[in-house]
Amino acid sequence: MKTLYGGIEAGGTKFVCAVGSGPGEIEAIERFPTTTPEETLRRTIDFFRHQQDAGHHFEAIGIASFGPVDPRPDSETFGYITATPKPNWSHTNFVGPISDAFGMPVAFDIDVNVAALGEHTWGSAIGLDTFIYMTIGTGIGGGGMINGELMHGLIHPEVGHIRIPHDLERDPFPGRCPYHGDCLEGLACGPAIEDRWKKKGFELPPDHPAWDLEAEYLAYAALNYICTVSPQKIIMGGGVMEQPKMHELIRKHVKRLLNDYIQSPTLIDGLDDFIVPPGLGNESGVLGAFALAKHLHG
Ligand code: ADP
Ligand code: ZN
Repeated sequence: MKTLYGGIEAGGTKFVCAVGSGPGEIEAIERFPTTTPEETLRRTIDFFRHQQDAGHHFEAIGIASFGPVDPRPDSETFGYITATPKPNWSHTNFVGPISDAFGMPVAFDIDVNVAALGEHTWGSAIGLDTFIYMTIGTGIGGGGMINGELMHGLIHPEVGHIRIPHDLERDPFPGRCPYHGDCLEGLACGPAIEDRWKKKGFELPPDHPAWDLEAEYLAYAALNYICTVSPQKIIMGGGVMEQPKMHELIRKHVKRLLNDYIQSPTLIDGLDDFIVPPGLGNESGVLGAFALAKHLHG
């Protein structure tokens, strides 16, 4: 029998809880809206209790959480969501109540790192040791691996909040990041597209100038990651990347901005296999949570 794991993908708008062992091997899954921490964690615990009662015995739980989080196991606030702009959720102990309820190992990391681990285990990053996983949706976030280890460092990277060139004549939109205004997220997240063009992303036609501007901003970001981290691949997912041709447009701008400076065949002729969508579609997070639990369980 396969060893089962519990997986939680905790998003700012919805939670996904599942029991399973990998792609195509999900025994049970439930989605519910993110409300208050008390109610949402109660529903999470109820889901897993119910699974145990139904005979789905899992060995460890992995959590992929929206951030910012404290993922450092030796820290006093390990397993907390820290200072988030999301109302009611700042300084929430996430791991504590889950460990107390189940008395088993609970692994915890920022959602994008966990999704990166899912991609590394089963998706577009198999066999790579240095890569970036980005999501461009309600916000912009990213994680990944450096030399085979999930990116942590001081806390965890915040690749969505880097600064990129912003030509105010071409794009007078001031940006909407509550902390930085026109950082990458402020300029290029899904809600920024809506604020700038006064229409939902999926309502803007494929030939609308919104998409070339969006692709250029994301290409600047990719360029900065290429020059600092030297990733073997950049995986880009999230709602905004559902827009047809987005990956292709970003590759075009990356090619232009790099100007063939870095002498790698991947960057000079192989961008089609370098900037790619997630291999696991929208399941990278929840599957990554199984992989994270499995790492902890051994
Ligand atoms: P979240 O970031 O909350 O997990 P998503 O990754 O689904 O959610 O991203 C939601 C954002 O993606 C919204 O701002 C939405 O307008 C945008 N979006 C969804 N579909 C498209 C599309 N086809 N083209 C462009 N933007 C889209
Ligand atoms: Zn910002």
